[in-house]
Amino acid sequence: MTNLTFEVITLFPKAFELINNLGVITRAVEKNLINVNLHDLREYGEGSYRQVDDKPYGGGSGMVLKPEPIYKANNSINKLPNSKTLLMTPQGKVLKQHDLFRWSSLDQLIIICGQYEGFDERVRCLADEEVSMGDYVLSGGEIPAITIINGLTRLLPGTLGDSGSLIDESHNSSLLEYPHYTRPPIFKDMRVPDILVSGNHEEIESWRRQKSFERTLERRSDLISNENYKKSPQMKRIIEESNQFMKFRIGNEYDNYPDW
Ligand code: SAH
Repeated sequence: MTNLTFEVITLFPKAFELINNLGVITRAVEKNLINVNLHDLREYGEGSYRQVDDKPYGGGSGMVLKPEPIYKANNSINKLPNSKTLLMTPQGKVLKQHDLFRWSSLDQLIIICGQYEGFDERVRCLADEEVSMGDYVLSGGEIPAITIINGLTRLLPGTLGDSGSLIDESHNSSLLEYPHYTRPPIFKDMRVPDILVSGNHEEIESWRRQKSFERTLERRSDLISNENYKKSPQMKRIIEESNQFMKFRIGNEYDNYPDW
């Protein structure tokens, strides 16, 4: 049974061939865990030239996607009850891991990809959510759409061989993941930490939590400064466990550290 059906409205359906070359995602398509239906915007274009874009009212550079073809493509989709429509735009809310978790229980996700200067403003009311990949501008919504399909598919049961790998990873708990090592034990004079080869699972787990915390503090302290996160039992535990490290690092107790 298909878990999640993606309906993508795009001027460049060929871009989605990439999905067939992406390891676990390709297997998820083969196993029918996801279904990707591509809706070629050109087919809904107007006149003999199948026109999908036009000059902006008021002047200015570039072309704007017309509203009619996008509405027609959207109307052609057989909507399921548990469905959401996303619009790809740099003006949307920046995508986070928790958004992927939220959408992973849907049956259908409709994704509208813009191109050129973007789309006519009246397309916005088709969307439940406007999503951005980050504060930069790409030439089209196809790579953002593939990013969402990729990130969501790996959360679906049956996609990853070992679903345990979803539990620890970066951004699930607002902490970045701990460092990984594999063989050989020494590479270019760099040694795998002794604790990881010690076989002591409790110590390994505590080391990993500690590293996860240190790493987040060093690289993305903004993730920890989130007010709600500070109050979570998990964060409290991590802070307690890391108290020694904190004293060493900032020479103070957690409670007295001004930015937290
Ligand atoms: N002129 C527009 C940008 C158009 S870019 C503006 O300033 O808002 C063309 C299309 O690429 C957009 O319609 C959108 O679908 C996609 N796109 C570009 N950057 C993106 C980003 N950061 N996140 C999501 N979609 C993006």
